[in-house]
Amino acid sequence: MSLRVMQEYLNDPFLAKLYGEIRAAGPLRSISVDLTHKCNLRCTGCYFFAEGMESRRMPAGIEELDRFIERETARGTNFVTVVGGEPSLELERLKKLYDAFAVNVATNGLLRIPYEGFEDLPIGVAVWGDHESDRTLRGSGRLDVFARALDNYRDDPRAFWYYTATPGRPEEIADVVSQCVANGNSVLFNYYSDLGTGEGRPAYLCRLEDLRREIDRMIDLYPGHILLSSYVNRVCSTGRLHGLRWGYDVCTSLSADTGVTPERAANGHPLNPHFRSYNADLVTTRRCCTRVTGDCSSCYDVWQHFSWIILNLRSHLGSVEEFTNWLTTMYMFYLINRIVDFEPGIALLPEIHRRTQAYELQS
Ligand code: SF4
Repeated sequence: MSLRVMQEYLNDPFLAKLYGEIRAAGPLRSISVDLTHKCNLRCTGCYFFAEGMESRRMPAGIEELDRFIERETARGTNFVTVVGGEPSLELERLKKLYDAFAVNVATNGLLRIPYEGFEDLPIGVAVWGDHESDRTLRGSGRLDVFARALDNYRDDPRAFWYYTATPGRPEEIADVVSQCVANGNSVLFNYYSDLGTGEGRPAYLCRLEDLRREIDRMIDLYPGHILLSSYVNRVCSTGRLHGLRWGYDVCTSLSADTGVTPERAANGHPLNPHFRSYNADLVTTRRCCTRVTGDCSSCYDVWQHFSWIILNLRSHLGSVEEFTNWLTTMYMFYLINRIVDFEPGIALLPEIHRRTQAYELQS
């Protein structure tokens, strides 16, 4: 299928608008960075401590970060996902990255990232369920992290909730989302990817289909606030994309320098040749953002599924519906990360959801 067919699809003014904005913004050459090995929480199932990533320590001197920025700028990096550890513990370092690149930061929400100096920073604030579930999974049974984060980011347009749907509890979703929306924020969903429930069954498999349906219902209820299309929701929850099954062999978010085996490089599936996932030492990289060596079968990380779709443009050219699924995924990635203008882009969400939901009903 020739890329020329794409030009036919772009006769639709709405699609042409989305595509034009993405083209004007230009391509992203992305990396992820652990800003620090330190965290002020120990969440159940957090990949960072489960995989021993804290053993790579943040350099004591901040000048190491200056040299890292110089190296990555020279390499052509223009977009950084800042993770950790907890980035809000290291605001001076976060500011250096923010000033040098387009940046997206993931935080647990306990400490507010100030507005001053970070005015256009996309802040993904974690929540893992309702107040009780979140307290159990993230607050060691005592601390209501969700309540603190709601206070910290009330009416803050930079904040979007990075809601990792609690396995087996789809009935919590509506209440959590209504609180996030009432708080003046938008919502992106993720799926929990822990390594087990202790009951002999991985938690992430528990009522997965029910979780997916409830997330789709939230898109129906709050189309102007949900930063995930029903298409990405399906791909992420099923691990299926055009006959392919999600896993290492097709994953596009591997560190290009250390994470790609010769077999993976040769198997013909798209890869991101620029991507690296840096540890907190700012020198070494790991296989991917969420794993050092661990099994891919529990990986439901939504960002990696965004990348999987985005790098598979050609397989989305068979129909205008498939192309729309691809283009809206790409556009939402740019929108969440403020690579395109945020306020006008948010206004397009209801039409994006209307179209992608209609295609899901047909499929
Ligand atoms: S665990 Fe890492 S390598 Fe495996 S599929 Fe997920 S992102 Fe890719």
